[in-house]
Amino acid sequence: MIRIFFPLLALLVAGPLCAQNAPDADYDPDTILALKGLQRLDQRMNAIGYRLVDANASYCDQKTARTGLLLNDVAQYADQGTARFALGFDGPIGITAVAPDSPAAAAKLSPGNSLLAINNMAIDDIVIDDSQSSSEQPAYRRVDTINRMLRQMLAEGDVELTISEGGISRTVPIKPVQTCPGQFQIRVSADRSATADGKMVSVSSRLAEYFLADDEFAAVVAHELAHNLLKHRDRLDAQQVNRGFFGQLGKSAGRIRDTEIEADRLSVWLMANAGYDPQAAIRFWTRYGKEHGKGIFSASTHYRWKKRVQLFEEEIAKMAAMEPVDGKYAPPLLTEAD
Ligand SMILES: [Zn+2]
Repeated sequence: MIRIFFPLLALLVAGPLCAQNAPDADYDPDTILALKGLQRLDQRMNAIGYRLVDANASYCDQKTARTGLLLNDVAQYADQGTARFALGFDGPIGITAVAPDSPAAAAKLSPGNSLLAINNMAIDDIVIDDSQSSSEQPAYRRVDTINRMLRQMLAEGDVELTISEGGISRTVPIKPVQTCPGQFQIRVSADRSATADGKMVSVSSRLAEYFLADDEFAAVVAHELAHNLLKHRDRLDAQQVNRGFFGQLGKSAGRIRDTEIEADRLSVWLMANAGYDPQAAIRFWTRYGKEHGKGIFSASTHYRWKKRVQLFEEEIAKMAAMEPVDGKYAPPLLTEAD
């Protein structure tokens, strides 16, 4: 695994690094800048993910109640003192991002606030559930547990969050919205990649830095979200498709390619409904394809970028021929039974 070649990697806990806190007094300006840069990527990802799942909610049969908040544990950072200073956190769990037009934004929560309690249960009293956590990194398990708890409470209705802002605490009611399911994260990594594991959409920090505009960012997030909404992982597992190296061959390659084509087709509908320019998918994949022609995207599991552009054009033409309802286009892949 590549770790040392990318400065952002050093910001996050990597095993034994977590015990090494910098002296409190002087904060390294480069670390502060890098942390703020990473926070901006988190904020863009959170805003784009929220907009996609919110705008397309009526086409998803399963729903998730959501606030629009992104939480981070101060323990996740290698240099916790600098992280607190750079991100403004005064408690163990900080609000890294608040999606625009979300319930959290309506409650006037902001990045830099710290979360002290959920429905009067203090963060410090929450028992970390190691057995349930999907994270391999111990430093991520508390925030995993809190997110899972919050999702369960939101599924039952409104919640009260107690937050601290500049040392002053207040409790605010939050009324969640029902959206398509899905979680979104920036994965700090030196490779340019995006993945969908059935629930989570992950975009590497290096790829996120490569997007020229939020519309391009949304094109990739919408593609990965489409994999999750169409339950592609379950389908490939049921077909016993090898997703590793041998997936490049024979029947597995064809089945993976089918899911890639569907994700491309659905992605532009999700984008358009969320107010993103679907043409950005064409712009992004053309630029990326020209620069990365020989990489994974030329493997037998994926269409070459010119063919992908053709798929996007076909779907955009279908939308153009439709009469939108409330400004939205019902995506055939989500609304027509298969
Ligand atoms: Zn894909």
